Amino acid sequence: NTDTLKYKRILLKLSGEALLGSEDYGIDPEVINRLSHEISRVHQLGVEIGIVIGGGNIFRGEGLSKSGIDRVTGDHMGMLATVMNALALQNALEKQGNKVRVMSAIGIHEVCEDYIRRRAIRHLAKGNIAVFAAGIGNPFFTTDSAASLRAIEINADIVLKATKVDGIYSADPVKDSKAFKYDHLTYDEVIEKKLAVMDTSAVVLCRDRNMPIRIFDINRENALMDIVQGSNIGTIVTA
Ligand code: UDP
Repeated sequence: NTDTLKYKRILLKLSGEALLGSEDYGIDPEVINRLSHEISRVHQLGVEIGIVIGGGNIFRGEGLSKSGIDRVTGDHMGMLATVMNALALQNALEKQGNKVRVMSAIGIHEVCEDYIRRRAIRHLAKGNIAVFAAGIGNPFFTTDSAASLRAIEINADIVLKATKVDGIYSADPVKDSKAFKYDHLTYDEVIEKKLAVMDTSAVVLCRDRNMPIRIFDINRENALMDIVQGSNIGTIVTA
């Protein structure tokens, strides 16, 4: 029964860093299994789930360019890193009994499907989890922008961005003891106050299509479950 659900189709944004856990490189198996478990439980409720996964635990174009790699090449490497994470997530979710399809914005046909919007929507309607890899497929973008774009394309109810902090703060809570958490912000406030929580381009995309964004703590147990059932966890960004 999906009537009690606040959100029936969600776009979950997981950063690559979220998979790091206690490792300093790559993927912590314990973390990916725990995340998969939380996602599975929400999926079992009947929520349709698209996931955009980042690659920062492996490569970021910006970081690579500092070590002398051409930016566009570095971004290609970053996008491929997201594909690796997507495969790991697919595997972990499948082990827990879910049907999962990785869809990449860059064609890698021996490994996963291409991102095709109609097919993505069909997967969701059939009860498959869709993992969107390779961001939007172009350099100089991030997977935050991909999350906004895919959410809009698949007509999701909301973008749920999992982070290491439990919402958007007025300043960095680690550095500033006066920092406080916002429960609600408008898109323009996030942009004007330069709250470093998501790229501006990702926020602007959501603003222009009126797509709500909720920022929440990835380490909070049951967070996803509570959010789809209507809890006001973290910070919500709307018009
Ligand atoms: N990237 C890109 N285009 C995209 C999405 C990602 O070029 O549409 C590259 C970019 O180099 C980025 C890397 O892939 O740094 C990994 O993505 P991101 O930094 O968004 O990962 P996250 O911070 O979420 O782990």
